[in-house]
Amino acid sequence: MAPGTVIVRALQAALLAGLLCAAPGSRAGGQASVLAAIDAYAPRMGEVADALWHNAEPGYLEQRSSALLQRELREAGFSIEPGVAGMPTAFVARAGNGHGPVIALLAEMDALPGMGQAAVPGHSPLHGQPGHACGHNLFGAGTVAAARAVARWLHDSGRPGEIRVYGTPAEEGGSGKVYMVRAGLFDDVDAVLHWHPADRNSAAQSGSMANVNGRFRFAGLASHASIAPERGRSALDGVEAMNHMANLMREHVPVDARIHYTISDGGGAPNVVPASAEVWYYVRHPDPDVVRGVFERVQNAAEGAAMGTGTRVAYTPLGGVYSLLPNDTLGRVLDSALRASGVAAPDADAVSFARSIQQTLAQPPALETLTAIADYGIDGVSHASTDVGDVSWTVPTAGLSTATWAPGTPAHSWQATAASGHALGHAGTRTAARAMALAAIELVGKPDVLKQAREELDRRRGEHFDYRPLLERDTPPLDYRATR
Ligand SMILES: [Zn+2]
Ligand SMILES: [Zn+2]
Repeated sequence: MAPGTVIVRALQAALLAGLLCAAPGSRAGGQASVLAAIDAYAPRMGEVADALWHNAEPGYLEQRSSALLQRELREAGFSIEPGVAGMPTAFVARAGNGHGPVIALLAEMDALPGMGQAAVPGHSPLHGQPGHACGHNLFGAGTVAAARAVARWLHDSGRPGEIRVYGTPAEEGGSGKVYMVRAGLFDDVDAVLHWHPADRNSAAQSGSMANVNGRFRFAGLASHASIAPERGRSALDGVEAMNHMANLMREHVPVDARIHYTISDGGGAPNVVPASAEVWYYVRHPDPDVVRGVFERVQNAAEGAAMGTGTRVAYTPLGGVYSLLPNDTLGRVLDSALRASGVAAPDADAVSFARSIQQTLAQPPALETLTAIADYGIDGVSHASTDVGDVSWTVPTAGLSTATWAPGTPAHSWQATAASGHALGHAGTRTAARAMALAAIELVGKPDVLKQAREELDRRRGEHFDYRPLLERDTPPLDYRATR
């Protein structure tokens, strides 16, 4: 398909519907102007995405990435509050005209350790280096593009309203957004929109998995493993006994629960009884209360294992997030915006890149998925987790996925890293920016829709909802990636 075909088709449809023939200050004129602003910024958006991709900074270490996103926003007239909620790389950027609705867009930016890969359609790892295997470089750049266009529209139209960008670090296991929610930074926000790189275009809303993760460090007594094993107490035995109990527990937890671990320190040498060993656990389930209960049992298993092996155990909580609470009212606004703005079709080079990537995937869906828009729905539950969850229980929130990766590509794969550093990723990012910007200006002008979205949130949370974060830390684990 020729570049831009789908956008052209969407614009033709809009013209036929009389949407874009209106005066600049009108709703349709506003839509045309924000889409034009995003398209004009698209080359720079690609540069920003690539800069983040090349810098690939893991959670809480996103200094250069955060600074670049802030710079792009400052240049577009945003005022920036950096270092919020005790996180040096978090920020809130604001633009607009006071006393109107506050629409917030989320911007993630962290990379994954060890996932470095060249932007080529074959496995070409950059050994030991972090990489954007979840496409958060695109996430940050696309959100900034949308926000700049909305800020310009607010400025030109004089409409009351505020557009905000929340620069949210350490999504991958660091729960950055939860600290921002706890600090009350979302309390005066009317709606939150976000997006995520994916292998398809969809504004369908779904739930997700709440989770808790943390490390259990066992302490024993070192001794010669052959000459004097009776004088030693193996910290690794503590880890193994705990894991055995957790594995038995799998039969006796709700069926949707997930328990996974890695032994992050198994001792040094087999001829030394390990004095120190560590295991890192995750527990997930769609219901935050189930996660709380199962994790408590895992903690009990750790205590039991320590007692039985003559070791001691110390628990360090790392992260905890709620499930996503979908919002149908906002989801439908995003879906309409996606259909109205159309899919920014990738160019021939990007399509050929996607085709080559697909040859490395087992049974990928049709390549045409790149430019299709999935049906809208709200009933599914994704097995992923995200710290957007806590935001979604606090403010009406909806998200979008766009095709930045070859159809069939899973997140956290080398194929995702490669596409996130390629024009293929840029095309999907442009689709996301266009849809989010249209949805944002739609919401600024529709206080009744914002009210409905808030009522839906209240209904879904239930009458007696009391937000108790799953996160058990007072301060963010700013070094959780530094030591990996
Ligand atoms: Zn991820
Ligand atoms: Zn992600």
